[in-house]
Amino acid sequence: METLFDNCRVLISSDEIQDRVRELAQRISVDYSDRNPLFITLLKGGFIFLADLVRNLSIPCEIEFVTASSYRDGMQRSADVEISAHLKSDLEGREVIVVEGIIDTGHTLVNLMHTLSEQRVKNYRVCTLLDKPSAREVEAPVHYVGFEIPDVFAVGYGLDFMERYRNLSYIAELSPTTAGVSAPERNVKRPDFSVSSGAPVILDQPRRDQQGNERKHR
Ligand code: 5GP
Ligand code: MG
Repeated sequence: METLFDNCRVLISSDEIQDRVRELAQRISVDYSDRNPLFITLLKGGFIFLADLVRNLSIPCEIEFVTASSYRDGMQRSADVEISAHLKSDLEGREVIVVEGIIDTGHTLVNLMHTLSEQRVKNYRVCTLLDKPSAREVEAPVHYVGFEIPDVFAVGYGLDFMERYRNLSYIAELSPTTAGVSAPERNVKRPDFSVSSGAPVILDQPRRDQQGNERKHR
């Protein structure tokens, strides 16, 4: 009998995720104390991350959802991203935190940023559980990062392959045979937070490494 786990290799355990999500929530709670951020989550991949993140906040918040489709066919990448933002909240003047499950090429985020700017938000920051910086094709501002991972196809904790695997409590790498790609060595990094508690701005500076050098994305 086929099980959910047949094609997967654990990349980040459930415990590691929970610890990190708590840290991110604490950081956001400090940065946004005395404010009322609106969390906008990208469906479907961000739904479990959002649920855990907001339950660890110590500040009030509001929540909205948008849908974005880029990986229309399993793993095929596409720069042609559709954002459907039928938001009930009026975004004008709001402080927004975008919550993503994973950032890959950056196209989805750039499209969403465009939508937010049109809606005249006051400012925004981006919080992603996973970041694949080596796959970046466009500059995308990311402020809170759970884990940096290599350019593998990740599933679990909300992320799918053909709508499956979202219910894994951990992040797994889909096997090379399923993914049709070679498997790099496990190389998961918990980056330092890239911003401190200053006021957020709409277009933030590029991310810097620990030596302060600007990080180049291809
Ligand atoms: P981007 O526009 O940054 O290339 O892609 C972002 C979207 O692509 C994510 O919201 C997610 O839906 C999907 N995606 C990118 N990389 C992965 C991955 O490794 N695994 C899964 N399941 N989805 C991914
Ligand atoms: Mg998907």
